[in-house]
Amino acid sequence: KSSIWGQCIKMNLYDCLPSAVFLFDHRVFVNRSLTLENIKCYGFDMDYTLATYKSPDYESMSFELMRDRMVSIGYPHEILRYKYDPSFPTRGLVVDTTYGNLLKVDSNGNILVCSHGFQFLKGEDIRKYYPNMFIQRDDTDRFYILNTLFNLSETYLYACLVDFFTGCTRYTKNTHCFQHGDLLMSYRSMFQDVRDAVDYTHDTVSSQNTPSYKCLQPNLPVLLTRIKEVAKVFLATNSDYNYTEVIMTYLLESNVKPGSPKKSWRSYFDLVVVDTKKPLFFAEGTVLRQVDTNTGKLRIGTYTGDLQHGTVYSGGSSDIVCDLLGVIGKDILYVGDHIFGDILKSKKRQGWKTFLVVPELTKELQVWEERKSIFEELKRLDLYLAELNKHPDTTSQEYRDIGSIHMRMKLLTYRMDMSYGQMGSLLRSGSRQTLFASQLMRYADLYSSSCLNLMHYPVNYLFMAPPVLMPHEVVSEASSDFESSPLTLSSYPLTNKN
Ligand SMILES: [Mg+2]
Repeated sequence: KSSIWGQCIKMNLYDCLPSAVFLFDHRVFVNRSLTLENIKCYGFDMDYTLATYKSPDYESMSFELMRDRMVSIGYPHEILRYKYDPSFPTRGLVVDTTYGNLLKVDSNGNILVCSHGFQFLKGEDIRKYYPNMFIQRDDTDRFYILNTLFNLSETYLYACLVDFFTGCTRYTKNTHCFQHGDLLMSYRSMFQDVRDAVDYTHDTVSSQNTPSYKCLQPNLPVLLTRIKEVAKVFLATNSDYNYTEVIMTYLLESNVKPGSPKKSWRSYFDLVVVDTKKPLFFAEGTVLRQVDTNTGKLRIGTYTGDLQHGTVYSGGSSDIVCDLLGVIGKDILYVGDHIFGDILKSKKRQGWKTFLVVPELTKELQVWEERKSIFEELKRLDLYLAELNKHPDTTSQEYRDIGSIHMRMKLLTYRMDMSYGQMGSLLRSGSRQTLFASQLMRYADLYSSSCLNLMHYPVNYLFMAPPVLMPHEVVSEASSDFESSPLTLSSYPLTNKN
C-alpha cells in the first residue's frame, strides 16, 4: 500500500493541498540519500524516541519537583512563586556557568541570542560579556549544552534563579556571583545545584503516574512488527532495566486489541540493552552483563555467550551489539532524539546510518508555513544589501539607507523568533542557523518529528536527498545567465521599506 505522502508525490500535490503542514508533519526529511532495502538492522533509543511525554505537563511537573528541592537545600522560599513557562526555553541552548547567561549560538559559536535570567541582552550588553560575540564552546568545563528535551525544565529553573537573585535587594550582584553578607554564590555553583537537583529528582520524575505524563503511541507495535519482518531490531537505552520495563510495558503491552494474543514487549526486539551510557557506548563502552528480568538485578561477570532471544543485557558497546547481531555499522539505521549521544557519536565513531527524532518539528513547520513571508523578505534584504555593496555609490539614497535596512532586518528576525517562543526557533535565528541545525544536517541522514513517520513509507523505500551545490558551483552555473542578463540593483526591488 502506498502512503499518503507517496500518493502526494505521485500526484504532485505539494503546493495545492490545504493541509500541507499536516502532511509535512508526517514526512521524513532527508539530508543524505538512504535505501531502506539495504538496512539489515534498526536500533532504537527509548526516551523521546519510542516513548513520548505530554508537554508541557511533564516539564512543569519536573520543574516543580526540582524547584522544591532547591528550597529544601536552602534556596530562598520566594522561588516557589515561579511557575514553568513553556514559551521560554528552547532545546540546544548553552549555559555559560561563568556569567550565568543562556546563549543561543550558531555552528561556529557566534552568539545569536543571549539572556540573563529572563532579560534578553542587546548587542552592546552582550559585548560586555563577550567582546567578540563568540564563545569557545569546546570549553565544556564552562559551557554546558542543553541537548535533550529533559533539559528544558532545568534551563527554565536556572533562568528563574538568575532572575530572582538579580532582582532581590538582599543580594549584591558581582560579575561572577551574588553576595549576601559573607555568603558568596557563584553562577557556577548555582548551576551545579540545579544539576544535582535534576539527579536527585530523577527517580521521582520517572516514577510519576504513567498515563498522566506519557503518551501512548498506538502505531508503535505495528511499526516494530513490520520492521522485524525484514530486519533485526534492537533497543539501546541509557535508562535502567526497571524503568525500561515500566515504559515499554506501557507502550507495547497496554494497547493490545481485545482478543489478540498477549505478547511480551521484549519479543518485539532481537536484542535489548539497558544502561548503555551513550555516548560512551559508541566508543569503548562498558562491561556487558545479563539482567535478571525477574528481579531487575545484574548478573555478576561479563557476558561472553551468543545472543539469546528475550534476554536483556546491561552496558556493552556498539561493537558488541554488532557482534551479537552479526551486522556491521553501515547495515544499521539508528533512531534517536539526542543529537550528540545518539546521532553524532554513532555516525562519527561507527559510521551508522542515523535518524534523528525532532519532536519540535511539528511546531517549527507550522510557524514556518505561517511566517514564510518574513523569511522571504529577509532574504530579499540580504541580496539587496549585497548588491549595494557590490556597486557602492556612496552618494545614492539607497546607500544612505543601509542603516535602516539593518534595523528592518533586526526587526524581522525578532518577529520571526518570537513566533516560535521567547528564545526563538530550535533551528534558526532570522537567516542564520543554530548549532543544533548544523549538527542535524551534518550527522542525521534522516529526520522527522516522530519515528512513527516511518510507517508512511514502504520498507524498501529510497530516501533521496536533494542535490546541494557548493557556492562556486552555483556561481559557475549562474555565470552564463549573468553574462546574458547582468544583475542590477533594480533586479532586487525593496518592496517594503517600512
Ligand atoms: Mg532519548
